[in-house]
Amino acid sequence: MTTANVVNPATEQVVATIEATTEAQTDAAIERAHRAAVRWREVAPGDRARLLRRFADVVDANLEQLAQLEVANSGHTIGNARWEAGNVRDVLHYCAGIPERLLGSQIPVAGGVNITFQEPLGVVGIIVPWNFPMPIAAWGFGPALAAGNTVVLKPAELTPMTAIRLGELALEAGLPEGVFQVLPGKGTVVGQRFVTHPAVRKVVFTGSTEVGKQIMVGCAQQVKRVTLELGGKSANIVFADADLERAAATAPYGVFDNAGQDCCARSRILVQRSVFDRFMELLEPAVRGVRVGDPADETTEMGPLISAAHRERVAAFVEPSTKVAFTGERPDGPGFWYPPTVVLPGAPTDRVLTEEVFGPVVAVVSFEDEADALRIANATEYGLSGSIWTNDVGRALRVSRGVEAGNLSVNSHSSVRYWTPFGGFKQSGLGRELGPDAALAFTETKNVFIATT
Ligand code: NAP
Ligand code: MG
Repeated sequence: MTTANVVNPATEQVVATIEATTEAQTDAAIERAHRAAVRWREVAPGDRARLLRRFADVVDANLEQLAQLEVANSGHTIGNARWEAGNVRDVLHYCAGIPERLLGSQIPVAGGVNITFQEPLGVVGIIVPWNFPMPIAAWGFGPALAAGNTVVLKPAELTPMTAIRLGELALEAGLPEGVFQVLPGKGTVVGQRFVTHPAVRKVVFTGSTEVGKQIMVGCAQQVKRVTLELGGKSANIVFADADLERAAATAPYGVFDNAGQDCCARSRILVQRSVFDRFMELLEPAVRGVRVGDPADETTEMGPLISAAHRERVAAFVEPSTKVAFTGERPDGPGFWYPPTVVLPGAPTDRVLTEEVFGPVVAVVSFEDEADALRIANATEYGLSGSIWTNDVGRALRVSRGVEAGNLSVNSHSSVRYWTPFGGFKQSGLGRELGPDAALAFTETKNVFIATT
């Protein structure tokens, strides 16, 4: 038996010791899920909906406990953690509307009729990263369960606490045994088994592009369905005609929220040359003013990074030769702290402009005109998110259409809402989660011809 210590990144104290699921235990859980799938798909849509609603209610009743667990395990600010637990509840309520609305179609043909069914896939394996343990899990398991699948969920090794609790709450809500199982453990053991076990019919993977590619290759062996939500290097594009005060005041939130450990982080700020100096003047106090510290404090805006190793990785992006424009606070004492950092890259090929930092480091560059802005914004293998700041509606739409990314926001940094689709272009992913079509990604379309003559 292997165990792993779960560490509070704000204090470096061990908060729990978790038993890692072995390969044999993973196989047993998958087989349990496979047996449960046979019954779960036959549960009347209204009853499945009711169980998901009850799951949502139980999450709501335990919202504060889930939020506190996330603060202690992940160092998320309490405000963010409450939002995340609330997001799980809301996603479950939204998905409770799915079973009764998962309709097929009827298509008239000569000599009969074709009818289509949206059939559940069976067992779905969900692999989650450490940056948003609760919402990312729910975006997979909500629609998967609603569409009649059973789920095995592997949280990240560093952040298993809230997922384990969600597994208990699902049973408390009355979900039948085997329908939703949480298997903490290693990606190379548990996650890998989701890829290779033939009873797992789909893998939903959120994480790095590097591991995502391996998952896709692995799934290809069985033509296994796969949804990938991967990395990002999103651009925050500020045009001269924008409300510069608002653009500068909100830019820190756009990149430093969750200490920059956000796949949608706007980690490149592109500013039109004519307003570059003014924008930097406005940005400086906003960055210096970000309140970094104890994530349990209600007024804190940014907590620590997830681990010492991750902090080292982030710090390596700011080399001695890097031109740092300014930095924000960094608390003393224990905890994996890194200050909000604004850098001015020397060349377009600088790593800080091309690679995902996944920490509180943002690079600011200037551009000439719309075409230049699009050229820079799209000069990346990623395509997840981005923001456009302008008061010209035509430009807002033109640039939105021109940026190669799945989720954009105009005069805002918020592009993720569970009733709207989420996913990446290019190497940021494959497929979409959430939104009105969320359940379709967890079904196969079956087409049946019935002869009438
Ligand atoms: P990661 O290293 O790719 O790991 C993600 C998950 O995959 C973890 O649960 C990990 O397990 C597991 N895993 C690792 N190797 C595996 C393998 N060979 N087979 C199966 N599973 C394996 O990513 P991370 O460092 O946790 O998270 C950061 C990355 O996630 C960033 O690149 C970020 O952009 C991305 N992300 C994307 C989105 C999106 O929606 N597009 C959202 C959030 C994060 P262990 O815990 O054992 O390592
Ligand atoms: Mg990793």
